Parts: sequence; C-alpha cells; structure tokens
Amino acid sequence: MSSAFDFEPQPRRASVAVDVGGVIVGGAAPVVVQSMTNTDTADVDATVAQVAALNRAGSELVRITVDRDESAAAVPKIRERLERLGLDVPLIGDFHYIGHKLLADHPACAEALAKYRINPGNVGFRDKKDKQFAAIIERAIEFNKPVRIGVNWGSLDQELLTRMMDDNQAKGFPLTASQVMRETIVQSALISAELAEEIGLARNRIILSAKVSNVQDLIAVYAMLAARSDHALHLGLTEAGMGSKGIVASAASLGILMQQGIGDTIRISLTPEPGGDRSREVQVAQELLQVMGFRQFIPVVAACPGCGRTTSTVFQELARKIEDDIRRNMPVWREKYPGVEGLKVAVMGCIVNGPGESKHADIGISLPGTGELPAAPVYIDGKKAMTIRGTNIAGDFEALVNDYIEK
Ligand code: SF4
Repeated sequence: MSSAFDFEPQPRRASVAVDVGGVIVGGAAPVVVQSMTNTDTADVDATVAQVAALNRAGSELVRITVDRDESAAAVPKIRERLERLGLDVPLIGDFHYIGHKLLADHPACAEALAKYRINPGNVGFRDKKDKQFAAIIERAIEFNKPVRIGVNWGSLDQELLTRMMDDNQAKGFPLTASQVMRETIVQSALISAELAEEIGLARNRIILSAKVSNVQDLIAVYAMLAARSDHALHLGLTEAGMGSKGIVASAASLGILMQQGIGDTIRISLTPEPGGDRSREVQVAQELLQVMGFRQFIPVVAACPGCGRTTSTVFQELARKIEDDIRRNMPVWREKYPGVEGLKVAVMGCIVNGPGESKHADIGISLPGTGELPAAPVYIDGKKAMTIRGTNIAGDFEALVNDYIEK
C-alpha cells in the first residue's frame, strides 16, 4: 500500500550545473524560468523592448531567434541596449540550419550570446551534418559558451528515425511506432551530447531538451532522458497551444516531471492571442513553480470561487484588485521587503470557509456574502485582528494589506 510520503516531491535529480551568463541551470540551483521572443531579431528596437518586458516579468533567461545575417548582426546591439537599460538578462541564440555559418561570420554575436541552442534535427544533412554540428560546438568552446542540444519531434533527425525504424523492423517490431519515436528523440539528444563532448565541450557546458507536443510522450521522453544522463534538462512542451489548453497541457506535463525531481529550467510555450501579452508565459511558469512549492515569486492571493451564497461581486473585485496591486508593486517591494514573495493573502466570499482560510493566510478577509452586511472580519497572522465596517470595506482592506507588507 502506498503512503502519503510517496506523493511528496521527489528529490531533484542530480544534474551537472551549467552557468548560463551568470544564471545557474541544474545542480542545486532552483528551477530557472525562461522564455522566448517572437520579434524579428533584426528589429533591434522591438526585440530590446520584448526582452526587457519578458525579463521584467521574471524571465531569467531569454531566447532570441538568430536565423540570418541581419539578426546575427543585431545581437550585439541588442545586448548593448539592454545593458544600457540596466538589464543583464542572458540572451540565448536559437540557431537552425545555418548556425555554424552565422556564428563563424559574426564573432560579436557569438560573444554577446550567453548560450547557443542547436537542433540536431536540422543542423545539417548527411556528411555535412557532423561537420556543421562540430563547427558550432567549436565556436562554443572558443567563446566559452554553453549549448543546449534541443531536439524537437517536429524536426526530428530523419536519418536517425529511419535507422531506428529499420532496426525495429529487423528485430520483429518489439517497439510500437510511438515507442520508436520516443526512443529516437532520446537517442538524438544523447548521441549529440556525446559527440559534443568528444569534440571537447565540457559536461558543464551542455543542457538537453527533447520537446514534443503530446503530454504523455513528453513525460515519457524526459523520464527516459533523466534516467540515462546527468545533463541539466530544459523542460517544455512544444506547441503547447492557445489559451487554457496550452496552460493546462504545460502545467500537467511539467508539473508531473518536476514532482519526480526532473527539470532544471522551464519554458511554457504558449501561443499568444493576436496582440496578446508575451509575458503571460513567464507568469504561468512562475505560477506553476510557486503553486507546486518549488519557488516563490509573488505573494499568493487565495480567493474562493464564490457560490450561491455570494450575491455580490465585491470579493471577486477585491481579490482582482489586490492581485493587480501586488503585481504592480512587486518590483519595488522585492527590493525593499526581502521575503515578501512568501506572503499569502486570502479574500473569501463568506463565513463558511472565510475565517478558516483567512487564518491560514498572513492576512485575510472574510467578506459578507451578500455585500450588504456592513462588517467583515480581518485576520492577521492567524488571529482575528479587527472587523472592518462601513461602505469602503474593499478600500480599507487594501490599505491594511499595504500596511502589513510595509511593516
Ligand atoms: Fe461559497 Fe462561502 Fe465557500 Fe466562498 S467561502 S465558495 S462564498 S461557501
């Protein structure tokens, strides 16, 4: 029979720590949040603005596309502009097809980046493949940069896949098609890592990822990778999708893996709504790590869902307002009040669960469900501290939360 302890988070898998421009990924370091821009990197203004927004939202690493000469030439300018803004967020260059050429032709780009991402599935073909892969690894060694070997099932190494399928056929199909695909993804990452080490890249310069878009495949692939290597792992569901589907799929897969101690850095790849906020993926990544108890980024506002007992919307409005206030003030509070991230605020709709939940928070309020009763008890540090009365209950509680944080 299983015990409750079986469901506790497993100890973090031991991985080799990698220094990415001063941010440690793997080893004993906390799981790092990263994201990626969707601007044309050659557009320096737009890319600087988006990297800055992602970094300010909490992205500790930001990846940018480096797909042609113009974007490679823009990288050092972007780095410089960010530094002028006082932002030292490490930039990761995302290379496909011609990374070897871009890194050779643009040494300032090679220097300005904190890490190179290579996709073994499209680094080159047939006899050119190993040479082009080697050229990127040699650049990484020359510039003392780490590399992420990022396999993606949408651009899987077709030669390797064909070989694995032929091998499976020769053995009488011991593996299903899905198992062959999973094994190919894992092999692609491991073979490339081995090759990079043979060329001379140190183990503490290699991060692996193996992204797929199906939740069960993702969990299986990363569990296999984790069991067969000690390289730091970058987790992410590729093409997670739009809106709540992307969030749910990412949270389910990454949550299960991290509960098993697997994963050293995460990216939540959400498809933004047209004109939508790119920083949303950073917020989701932080919230995932925070709700699972792995990291703390921002005070939690616990609010009940409301039910037939609530005939007013006061508590929903107040919960939203408090959360917005906290997000707006966090950059300042983080500097001024160390530990503020761990704060819990409760905004509850009525007396059924209100007092209990509020006592579990640092500061909480149990609003009258009808919104008409002019009294709401406030709990501070687990004890009833006062009752707010009158018509400005929401405003008064907001002021109390601010006072509590400042004190
Ligand atoms: Fe409903 Fe009250 Fe529970 Fe909120 S605390 S969900 S209003 S019973």
